[in-house]
Amino acid sequence: MAQDPDCIFCKIVAGELPSLVVAEDDRTIAFLDVNPATPGHTVVIPKDHHRDLLTIDDDVLAATTATARRVAALLSDRLDAVGVNLLNNCGAQAWQTVFHFHLHVVPRYASDPLTLPWVPAPGDRDEITATHATLTA
Ligand code: 5GP
Ligand code: ZN
Repeated sequence: MAQDPDCIFCKIVAGELPSLVVAEDDRTIAFLDVNPATPGHTVVIPKDHHRDLLTIDDDVLAATTATARRVAALLSDRLDAVGVNLLNNCGAQAWQTVFHFHLHVVPRYASDPLTLPWVPAPGDRDEITATHATLTA
């Protein structure tokens, strides 16, 4: 199994660091985040070390996503969450701090303090069109 000896999530997989596991299968493991956004905030990871969304294999991503959905159902069932956010941070600018691919599963409660990290507002149509042209050239 591919591991990085300097990676804290690989150390959790190896049992070298403690964690509170809520779900596990042969390829993935899910444990409670030590800095929870809301109660029950869970991190879901592949047991193999993959740096981020851009480098993880499709099948490993699929396995990790399937576990995240199981965890979302668990949180909704056991903690009475009324919604769930699934979040991946890819790259330091995008808030990634642990460079072992992971999905955050964040249960949402009626009165929790979380807000969207952007303010929805209509974009410039020309800019959107130009971006589309760049992406489809
Ligand atoms: P990122 O910022 O990379 O998207 O998310 C990394 C997450 O891992 C953070 O939410 C952080 O609180 C969590 N985390 C970092 N170190 C540990 C640890 O040793 N144990 C657990 N359970 N969570 C950790
Ligand atoms: Zn790792």
